[in-house]
Amino acid sequence: MASVLVYLDHPIVPLAKASRELLTIAATIGEPAVALGVDSLEDGVAEALGEYGVRQIYVPENPDLDKYLVAPKAAFLAVVVEQASPSAVLLDNGFESKEIAGRLGVKLSSGVITDIVSVGEDLTVMKLDLAGSYTVSAKVTHGIPVLTVKPNSAEPRVASEPTRPEQVKVAAVDVSAVNAARVTGREDKKASTRPSLSEARVIVSGGRGTNGDFSAVEAFADALGGAVGASRAATDAGWIEHSAQVGQTGQTVSPQLYISAGISGAIQQKAGMQTSKVIVAVNKDADSPIFEIADFGIVGDLFKVLPQATEEIQKRRS
Ligand SMILES: Cc1cc2nc3c(=O)[nH]c(=O)nc-3n(C[C@H](O)[C@H](O)[C@H](O)COP(=O)(O)OP(=O)(O)OC[C@H]3O[C@@H](n4cnc5c(N)ncnc54)[C@H](O)[C@@H]3O)c2cc1C
Repeated sequence: MASVLVYLDHPIVPLAKASRELLTIAATIGEPAVALGVDSLEDGVAEALGEYGVRQIYVPENPDLDKYLVAPKAAFLAVVVEQASPSAVLLDNGFESKEIAGRLGVKLSSGVITDIVSVGEDLTVMKLDLAGSYTVSAKVTHGIPVLTVKPNSAEPRVASEPTRPEQVKVAAVDVSAVNAARVTGREDKKASTRPSLSEARVIVSGGRGTNGDFSAVEAFADALGGAVGASRAATDAGWIEHSAQVGQTGQTVSPQLYISAGISGAIQQKAGMQTSKVIVAVNKDADSPIFEIADFGIVGDLFKVLPQATEEIQKRRS
């Protein structure tokens, strides 16, 4: 059975849910193998990858791959593909991975498909197009398929028998021969006790209706142990960081419960949250399009509705 190569930039334990999903998908198509973006494995990562049936971990000899943006990583992956001859390469659907995928596709002369929501055993994929209005079935017809998969596209499942992955060193890529952009500084993301958007079971999102005051949204999210999301109007206004954006050009989420507060429900916002199990909308305009897809709708002012709900939850908890 051919291997399926999963690119994981810098895995740590516990493995991120998106990484576990990619490994699960890889295992349904073939034998999972992993290519790393860093030259050494963090403690416990090999064992964690073994739980998902990974057989080989390709580690770059470059000590500094993580000090560059995408180009050297694509060059490294091309070398791994040559060495491993996988039947497909899977990456996450983040901006950086999509760019690596594009560059890798050019190097391999292979077809690239992004924004995938499911991958079949025969490598036919499904993707949502035009802000989720159409479901498209597609298949790479030339070269080794390079596929970027959206989060929440599979339920992570460990292998029936764990493996002990072999570590394979890959000769260093000549970074000077690649048009590389170097990372000149890094700033730690502010630590948060909230779950990440892609892993949260509950998400409370705020939009332009918050008028820049996310306190009611955050308090409600905290009462429910959830993550905080936002519409693009809110992130573009600088009210909350861009990583909180849900939608076509933001994150695709699929939590058990999505609470939309002060968000109109434009098609580009719906594209990122319409597969949530239960959708609750709070909006003071009864004609707002968000109510078309909401399971429960509350026509009201979010600054009245959310604090009341938060108080009630806290009362019942105590
Ligand atoms: C190519 C492209 C990609 C895009 N990608 C995204 C994306 O990824 N994600 C995204 O969200 N958008 C995206 N957009 C933008 C999208 O089209 C909308 O402009 C955006 O979603 C609007 O955000 P909003 O609903 O917060 O604001 P608005 O449309 O202004 O809606 C605000 C809502 O809040 C309600 N409201 C106001 N005050 C209150 C209150 N006190 N209590 C309760 N309700 C209140 C109003 O009735 C209104 O319905 C994209 C657009 C384009 C063109």
